[in-house]
Amino acid sequence: MRPFLHGGGCADACCLRVQNLSVTIGGSQILSDVNLHVHCGQMVAVIGPNGAGKSTFLKAVLGQQDYDGVIVFSAPGQRGRKAKIGYVPQSPAFDPGDPVSVADLFLCCRSKRPAFFGASKKQREWILSCLDRVHGCDLIDKRIGTLSGGELQRVLLALALEPLPNILILDEPLSGVDMEGQTGLMDMLDEIRKEYDLSILMTTHDFSLLPRYADQVVLINHKMVCLGTPEEVLSSDAFRQVFHMQGGGAK
Ligand code: ADP
Ligand code: MG
Repeated sequence: MRPFLHGGGCADACCLRVQNLSVTIGGSQILSDVNLHVHCGQMVAVIGPNGAGKSTFLKAVLGQQDYDGVIVFSAPGQRGRKAKIGYVPQSPAFDPGDPVSVADLFLCCRSKRPAFFGASKKQREWILSCLDRVHGCDLIDKRIGTLSGGELQRVLLALALEPLPNILILDEPLSGVDMEGQTGLMDMLDEIRKEYDLSILMTTHDFSLLPRYADQVVLINHKMVCLGTPEEVLSSDAFRQVFHMQGGGAK
């Protein structure tokens, strides 16, 4: 496990704790027995088959889904206040013909001034400073619907980082992104994690990138099946059973 970026171990005032989490929807138990401790500055990947409950788990952490159990997030200076969570949802669809630009999206999501007035000089500078965090200043006037998968993820990431959160949650940010873009996006998340010392919780199906980037991996299949380092989880019997693999672990 990598050292904690804030140094000196993890005091209780600096982590996300999930204890005995379960979710029941319409009488069906979707999730049970999820226990997890995400330290500040860590990247944690949630994996599992389709329909395993990964997005449901993220929604519970986001407070968008009722649950039983305990979810506590605390950070320095946040005592008694709610943690700030940045969220990048799973592949939102935008119409290529839609005349909404990246700047318009920022105005709609983060400004009280109606987007049809356009961005003032000051607002444009602010949007550029947000896009700069994801090396995306060149995207400011592009139409949202024409962005590549990787560019769209960077724009959504820039939005999720404004204002800077304590924890960043991303639901399958790598789907719809080509291999080169995936590595670029993971490098960027790693850079952001280090620069701002924030925790990242993300779901993914791209296991090959986990050993390089993730501190912990949680395998979910309606319950928490396995938790550990990427190497531990990807080489576990539980992983092979869940993904119906014959020996050998993840490729
Ligand atoms: P994953 O993200 O791992 O693919 P989800 O968390 O989206 O899985 O869904 C897990 C299960 O919960 C699925 O069987 C899904 O149909 C069910 N589910 C999720 N949300 C709802 C809902 N609002 N109503 C009914 N079933 C739901
Ligand atoms: Mg999902």
